[in-house]
Amino acid sequence: MLLSRLANAHPIAPMNILVLPGDDIGPEITAAAMSVLQRADAIFSLGLNFETREVGMACHRRIGTTLPESIVEAALAADGVVLGPCGMTEYPPLEKGGINVPGTLRKRLDLYANLRPARSRESLRNARPGLDCLVARENTEGFYSDRNMFMGSGEFMPTADCALSVRKITAQASRRIAQVAFEHASRRRKQVTAVGKRHVLQMGDGIFIREAAAVAKNFPDVAWREMDIDAMAADLYTRPERHDVILITNMFGDILSNAASAMAGGLGLAAALNAGDQHAAANAAHGSAPDIAGRDRANPTSLILSSAMLLEWLGTRHKRDDLVTAAHAIEGAVDACLADPGTRTADVGGSLGTRAFGAAVVGRLEKSANKLAAA
Ligand code: ATP
Repeated sequence: MLLSRLANAHPIAPMNILVLPGDDIGPEITAAAMSVLQRADAIFSLGLNFETREVGMACHRRIGTTLPESIVEAALAADGVVLGPCGMTEYPPLEKGGINVPGTLRKRLDLYANLRPARSRESLRNARPGLDCLVARENTEGFYSDRNMFMGSGEFMPTADCALSVRKITAQASRRIAQVAFEHASRRRKQVTAVGKRHVLQMGDGIFIREAAAVAKNFPDVAWREMDIDAMAADLYTRPERHDVILITNMFGDILSNAASAMAGGLGLAAALNAGDQHAAANAAHGSAPDIAGRDRANPTSLILSSAMLLEWLGTRHKRDDLVTAAHAIEGAVDACLADPGTRTADVGGSLGTRAFGAAVVGRLEKSANKLAAA
């Protein structure tokens, strides 16, 4: 009854969300994230429409490809995508239909910014106190040789015993990820650390840092500095409180953000949003964890929080405060569950399974929405 007071007073345009559960633990954590999103949709009358389609090995077994073109088109037509982790290492080669699902969607939807927050919650035993950072990782080029070229691959072998891996850094890609990093910093603690290794990768990181410096000029209230990746790795561990937004190239960002997630309490907490100017996809930062697949053991926090990031992105893009409010309510519900040892999954010291944790988050969401409505 009380919840109806939170509902939108006026009809709103529906938001179409494409849901792609992925491989291994993907379907399990996607189901938990969907239960939370569907409840948030009902509580806040968000007008979300969900369409679920199969990608990955289940799709390959059925029609011989891990990613049919029709799904790329559906993703381009949707307002947002929720993508479960995909088990790419098990995929057949490209010529036999093994298409890298997240990599292809990043490229085709031009999702150039990979945003990976990491925050330590005091009550979690593995959390390193003081950590509250956002890794803003360039997502389209760098060392990702399987997708960093217009045609062909950035990795090749001139002889049987010699392999060359080419890193690509462009001014345009560096500039746009720097813009995203500074925008986020201006809404956070107003600090950017731009990371590279400029005295070694003089040209590539030279461009990356040069563009960061140019963008910084438009954000006079945001302090920024440059750090080498090795110094950054040590500093993030020893003095996590010093870091707010970390602006970083693709491969360094993947590695550093995984370390940051471990410092926050584990990969099961590793939320991420892949975002561009027109499209965004919620996609946890970890892989498909085949070692725990099908056992109701995965922590769905990563994808639940990634989905909340998608709602916030949609709310900002479409000027819809209700979507932002729902995103914050989901984050609050996750925080409340993680603060209580009785409502945690095994990887963070609890005993709940994937499904039960999803249900606990839904329960907290309802409780806090009721409080909000009563206030
Ligand atoms: P990729 O190369 O695709 O990123 P990976 O080989 O790094 O994958 P992950 O699948 O990320 O491996 O898993 C690394 C470890 O973290 C595994 O032991 C896995 O069980 C654990 N892990 C990953 N995600 C979760 C999760 N959501 N909940 C609990 N444990 C997880």
